[in-house]
Amino acid sequence: MSRYWSDIVQKLVPYVPGEQPALAHPLKLNTNENPYPPSPRVAQAIAGELGEAGETLRRYPDPLARRLRETVAAHHGLKPEQVFAGNGSDEVLAHVFQALLKHDKPLRFPDITYSFYPTYARLYDVRYEAVPLADDFSIEVDNYLGDAGCVLFPNPNAPTGRALPLADIERIVAANPSSAVVVDEAYVDFGAQSAISLIDRYPNLLVVHTASKARSLAGMRVGFAFGHASLVEALNRVKDSFNSYPLDRLAQVAAQAAYEDDAYFRATCERVIASRERMTQALSSLGFEVVPSAANFIFARHPVHDAATLAARLKDREIFVRHFKQPRIDRHLRITVGTDGECDALVEAMRELTTTP
Ligand code: PMP
Repeated sequence: MSRYWSDIVQKLVPYVPGEQPALAHPLKLNTNENPYPPSPRVAQAIAGELGEAGETLRRYPDPLARRLRETVAAHHGLKPEQVFAGNGSDEVLAHVFQALLKHDKPLRFPDITYSFYPTYARLYDVRYEAVPLADDFSIEVDNYLGDAGCVLFPNPNAPTGRALPLADIERIVAANPSSAVVVDEAYVDFGAQSAISLIDRYPNLLVVHTASKARSLAGMRVGFAFGHASLVEALNRVKDSFNSYPLDRLAQVAAQAAYEDDAYFRATCERVIASRERMTQALSSLGFEVVPSAANFIFARHPVHDAATLAARLKDREIFVRHFKQPRIDRHLRITVGTDGECDALVEAMRELTTTP
């Protein structure tokens, strides 16, 4: 605390990202990164953009990331004016809070969800109501009907991994015609149905995506929002009042190359999904209760062993998973799906920690 800090900074409770350990070879299953590298076309595109001497870096990038947005729009059957691009979906979400979610009626989002949402709400002074998930961690659609203000949720939800079917999402979008409904689809490619197909019918729907997960580009910071052109315009107004060049040149060509390599993307997602099912089986056979996941992570609890202690013992072995000290979920661990080899190492460590007396 310092007297030089503005009022709002004194009161902020910043988001705490998962640890990025400074170890040579940690088994990092704590921030839902992809275990596979991006498409080989990505490195080629970056090298092409850099050229021999990095000549292009002298110039600012395209502030509207037009080629990238055209590629991604075509990939999803949208028009470029329905696509907003930002510096990671965290930045996109920040703009969404400021541009679309601040109204008299409180914003509604689940009590157990991406923990950045309450942080953004405080930063931008957005009133919100945390709506309890059901006991099985599913989102109860009936709690989001009634045109009672903006709605935001991830699908699949994080950190639970549970997905809502498209018909349920449509019910929520259709029932709130006077407010924006935002679906954060950071993990959608690992097993949920995207709401992008609803965009042409619902001008209040915004869908947020990231290149960090299924396209293995967390290090590049590229995210998107898809929706009616007027929602995208609202985001551009905020962007151009904040940072007009959010995506650097390398990020733009890298993400474009990743979206152009659809076969690689699909194959990677299939491998992650297969490993998730395998790890779910293995942990279940050790007695863990695993929430059904449509994401690249699982959410699991052991009926006997304390989650925080398990996480600490794993960390002693340089294995990193995520534990949230939060009501309702402090007995759970969120474990990112790695390669089969990485998942096997995690399961082996769990076997030792839960079966040796
Ligand atoms: N939404 C959800 C639900 C997430 O879990 C994450 C990753 N922490 C993000 C958005 C942000 O991802 P990124 O900024 O890397 O696009």
